[in-house]
Amino acid sequence: MMGEFELIARYFRRPVRRADLGVGDDCALLRTAPGMQLAVSSDMLVEGRHFLATVAPERLGHKALAVNLSDLAAVGARPMAFTLALALPSADERFLAPFARGLLALADASGIELVGGDTTAGPLNICITVLGELPAGQALLRSGARPGDDVWISGTLGDARLALEVFRGTVALPGGDFETVRRAMEMPTPRNALGIALRGLAHSAIDVSDGLAGDLGHVLAASGVAACLDVDALPRSAVLAARPVAVQHECLLAGGDDYELAFTAPQARRQAVVAAGQAAGVALTRCGTIEAGRGLRLVDRAGRPVAATFRGFDHFAPAAAP
Ligand code: ADP
Ligand code: MG
Repeated sequence: MMGEFELIARYFRRPVRRADLGVGDDCALLRTAPGMQLAVSSDMLVEGRHFLATVAPERLGHKALAVNLSDLAAVGARPMAFTLALALPSADERFLAPFARGLLALADASGIELVGGDTTAGPLNICITVLGELPAGQALLRSGARPGDDVWISGTLGDARLALEVFRGTVALPGGDFETVRRAMEMPTPRNALGIALRGLAHSAIDVSDGLAGDLGHVLAASGVAACLDVDALPRSAVLAARPVAVQHECLLAGGDDYELAFTAPQARRQAVVAAGQAAGVALTRCGTIEAGRGLRLVDRAGRPVAATFRGFDHFAPAAAP
């Protein structure tokens, strides 16, 4: 039987290059360059809440880090290091080996190092803290949107929610389509290169984790502005576009688990925004405008109001309890 320290040594202790000290002592040691700020964010994943027991461990390892990297992307920080606090029902190699493989593959691809953590027995629970750096004062914040800004979305929205509905049994999809949206739910791509490219260009940004309507609402509230969103312009996959319009709207606006960036930028910088998307290798769609006032207005392509009341996901909202 593998003990706690053997488990850490086997799966999570790796040589570090950027950090001065990684796994093995009481603290990790990291250095930041003069003039830089540290960006710090934590996200916890709880079975049944944030992932289903059916997810492959390799994908779970990927997703646990991806959702954290997405927060660094949202502020435009470059990923540096992360810690992993893990509660495990047992030291099961059939879980640990693929989990570590998925986690560390994304870490390597993102240039981020595992420098510490904690390991304990208990119901499966994964808590990651990421550290990133960026030039002081250049973080993209929720509070910077200004009237006249365009609203932009990266990638496509709604596939993860569509996959969840298949698991819930409210939607049926052909096998190939199901695999496509299931992958979106289980293997999100954090938009770190885009976040970095948007420094000095976007006025505000947020990563879409709890549904666009709610998350854009956070930007509007923090910035003290309103927005008009063209629902027909929202970027969606061919799989989602083939569903009934009501399902599309629900998935696009209230979906959650998208991990795309929603950001605002001045109209005068449209070409620079498009170039940033190309440099980062991700499609960008312009789908709304920031206005003076309060709240989110939804319209169709012709400018007619679209009736919908969507709220962002809230773990403690009465209706959200399982
Ligand atoms: P302490 O008791 O001093 O908190 P631990 O015995 O919990 O230290 O951990 C030993 C070392 O292993 C520490 O450097 C810690 O950061 C690291 N560590 C523990 N669990 C993990 C994990 N899941 N992933 C990465 N590093 C870990
Ligand atoms: Mg400890």
